[in-house]
Amino acid sequence: MMISLTELYQKYKECSGVSTDTRKIEEASMFFALKGPNFNANAFAEQAIEKGAKYAVVDDAEYVKNEQYLLVEDGLKALQQLANFHRKQLNIPFIGLTGSNGKTTTKELINCVLSTKYRTYATLGNLNNHIGVPLTILAIDETIEVAIIEMGANKQGDIKELVEIAEPTHGFITNIGKAHLEGFGGIEGVKKGKGELYDWLGTHNGTVFVNVASEPTYEMIQKYQFKENIIYTSTQNPLFENVVNILEESPFVVFEDASSNQYTSHLTGIYNFQNICAAIRIGQFFGIETSIACQAVADYVPNNNRSQFIQKGTNMVLMDAYNANPSSMSAAITYFNDLKVGKKMVILGDMFELGEEASAEHEAIGKLLLNCHFDYILLAGHLMESAVRVLPLMKVHYFPDKFGLHNWLQDYPVKDTHILVKGSRGMGLESVLQFLG
Ligand code: ATP
Ligand code: MG
Repeated sequence: MMISLTELYQKYKECSGVSTDTRKIEEASMFFALKGPNFNANAFAEQAIEKGAKYAVVDDAEYVKNEQYLLVEDGLKALQQLANFHRKQLNIPFIGLTGSNGKTTTKELINCVLSTKYRTYATLGNLNNHIGVPLTILAIDETIEVAIIEMGANKQGDIKELVEIAEPTHGFITNIGKAHLEGFGGIEGVKKGKGELYDWLGTHNGTVFVNVASEPTYEMIQKYQFKENIIYTSTQNPLFENVVNILEESPFVVFEDASSNQYTSHLTGIYNFQNICAAIRIGQFFGIETSIACQAVADYVPNNNRSQFIQKGTNMVLMDAYNANPSSMSAAITYFNDLKVGKKMVILGDMFELGEEASAEHEAIGKLLLNCHFDYILLAGHLMESAVRVLPLMKVHYFPDKFGLHNWLQDYPVKDTHILVKGSRGMGLESVLQFLG
């Protein structure tokens, strides 16, 4: 017998939490067996129960052993419907966050700011897809006052699916850039796909935050009447008092509030200035004093190789190997080029998921590098060959894979240098760190 959604919800309320991974089963939790192209987690249901799960939700009747096994039509759908059912019981602001770049960073910053006043729950790490968003929602209990939900997408319709589960009341699109071009079908496709967040808010009496500096997102909101639209700018504007000031000599973003108090963040790059402004503006909207919001932002320390400065011997490494796409790559290169420090080296790897734009986008990175003043340019990966083609041979060291790069770094130890490391996740360029000092 299939279990109904309301019954499933009652069982969920008896549980300590929800999991889709038998390696992370908590005592008395609810395990959802999901199917993927190469796995059928129904086969792990028994293991989940043995490890202490109170219930295992399965979508294949042959795995039902006793009343601890709950049969549903489709495990993933059941997880999403349960999350939406739970969301409807929670009468609190849900801030939905999407965009091409900076979602996780902005989410963390907003969380730091809002948690100075509210009990918040924010997406853990990067759990931002059709499974992560439901899991995030199901981790929110009645004590929470504000939820911050990161929503990722790599094609049209992804955000629509997520907003229908999370039903955000507030939303922010960090920016529209060249990420996942392949799945979205070009930049217009990215705009439409990310815009599904504002489409939802525009048709559900929602509130949006919009950074004027991101023109496409500013354009997007013109077609709706929102409950409130909080338009701000991360450049000079009297509406947004704490105009930030970046000191070029410092690798970290330094900013000032209206009373000229200075704060030094642990974040690097102009783009993080945008993320900081968003977090402070959203904090102000939720009634947090600007100086408190600024301090909360300044205290945030990034992790997971996202714009992280790491001292390695006599080198200072700007580790940004968490991911890369044409927008974030050129933002990072431009920022690093502007930085007024001594010797500089860039170690850059392939950008994936660009489809037929891949060659042109890598070539564009090559052209950008041509106008920069780096002492060393090290490029790794097959796609980077298109960048190498436009650069004078003397300027660049090219390696078809990162192992050649490792060898080079071992043969020619680098000292007293600022080093930017950036590439797509699949390149795993953080591995160069062991050879840098
Ligand atoms: P993902 O799609 O993997 O979830 P994300 O959107 O959550 O990524 P972050 O993890 O916050 O983004 O940042 C990843 C990288 O994107 C950073 O290390 C930085 O290089 C770049 N980045 C961050 N913020 C911006 C921004 N506002 N504009 C352009 N690039 C940015
Ligand atoms: Mg993210």
